[in-house]
Amino acid sequence: MAPRVRFAPSPTGYFHVGSARTALFNWMFARQQGGTFILRIEDTDRSRNQPEQIDGIQRAMRWLGLDWDEGPFLQSDSAARHREVVDQLLEEGRAYACDCTPEQIEARKPPGSPPGYDGYHRERGLTPGLGRAVRFRAPLDAESIFEDVVAGGAVREPSRNIGDFVIRKGNGDALFILANVVDDADMRISHVIRGNDHLSNTHKYVLLWEALRLGPLPVFAHLPLMMNAAGKKLSKRRDKVAVEDYRDDGYLPEAFRNYLALVGWSPGGDREILPIEEMVAEFRLEDVTKSSGMFDERKLLDVNKKYILSLRPGDFLTRATAWLSDRTQPLAPLVQERSRTLAEAWAMVDFLYQPKPCIERDTLQRSARKVPEFGAILAAAEERYATVEWRADAIRQATVEAGDAAGVTNRARSQEPVRVAVTGRTVGPPLFESLEVLGRDRTLARLADARARLDDGTGATR
Ligand code: GLU
Repeated sequence: MAPRVRFAPSPTGYFHVGSARTALFNWMFARQQGGTFILRIEDTDRSRNQPEQIDGIQRAMRWLGLDWDEGPFLQSDSAARHREVVDQLLEEGRAYACDCTPEQIEARKPPGSPPGYDGYHRERGLTPGLGRAVRFRAPLDAESIFEDVVAGGAVREPSRNIGDFVIRKGNGDALFILANVVDDADMRISHVIRGNDHLSNTHKYVLLWEALRLGPLPVFAHLPLMMNAAGKKLSKRRDKVAVEDYRDDGYLPEAFRNYLALVGWSPGGDREILPIEEMVAEFRLEDVTKSSGMFDERKLLDVNKKYILSLRPGDFLTRATAWLSDRTQPLAPLVQERSRTLAEAWAMVDFLYQPKPCIERDTLQRSARKVPEFGAILAAAEERYATVEWRADAIRQATVEAGDAAGVTNRARSQEPVRVAVTGRTVGPPLFESLEVLGRDRTLARLADARARLDDGTGATR
């Protein structure tokens, strides 16, 4: 039977390069095997969800050319089904109610005991209901065993090490771990291909699957972790991990996809650049490496450069123009209103394309004289921009607050230092929309840069 695989991202934040690699490997496997690739958005955790990211995930997948055959399904649409399965487990005695708080559990444990639940309510027969979580009754003397194609054999874990985990919260919402199993069964998923950070979840998965008598387990393929060039786990703080950032920085999707395929897999020999059709033809889950893969931005840049070089000049121009116009589109109507010639329009948006804005010494010094709180405003804005929701209206509010914090008396003045630091000019298109388009990271870097220039007295970038 043709395989059925799913990519099941949670809509939290941004689209991580690790998620993109998981999606790519699922997609390559499905295409290679003539199988079905399903997109399922795992939005069960209402407290962590960012619904706008549901679109973001699909945009990023389309950008990478990873088309799906079924979905997107929202896990939350099956909430009633998940509750029903928990009820079934309760009725069959495979789960039980529990109202212990984490503090109570901790307080009961003698020092040095293993982490996890101590089984306090396992045999106490608490009536299930609102405000009471439901825990899975893990068998005491069983083993979780599953086949992993990447590990190349069976992976085992005694069930007593897994413990009685929560499958439904006190508010009645099923947990991801339960929903994930039920959805995979309902969607007849044959292969679960996901990051090996899910290994311990898979052991819970297996126990639940067996308790629910769902038949033969899917085959698993746990993909190795992605490390940065320094051999450290990719982290949002250290590394550029959002796929959107690579798109916005002008990477070609086919180059990005090609490079991503090489993180933890190799087509053999020393081949690196190859068309997607060839990668699909040669992709085998068995060839995925067990050891972690390195995601090296410099190497990625190198691959991108090779792809750019191989474009015909006409294609290169078309794609570069499309990329430019994609980036400026949100600002276009605002710039249009303010331009008398196309050259003027260009001069209003060129700051978006420069690695750093060109700030004339005079501009910076004149502005700093006009607004004495210049540096303080930048510092206060930097602090607020780091966490504010990156939308024009929220940025506007944060800027006003930054001005207040820096002690400006004339609120209109708080904008100028930010505008100069970010665009190099004192006039231009509406500032907050511009910052939204420029993005948080670039904005923060430019503020810090302008502040450093003020401090070291150079006052200019050229
Ligand atoms: N929703 C999980 C995540 O985003 C993935 C679960 C899975 O692939 O089974 O990490």
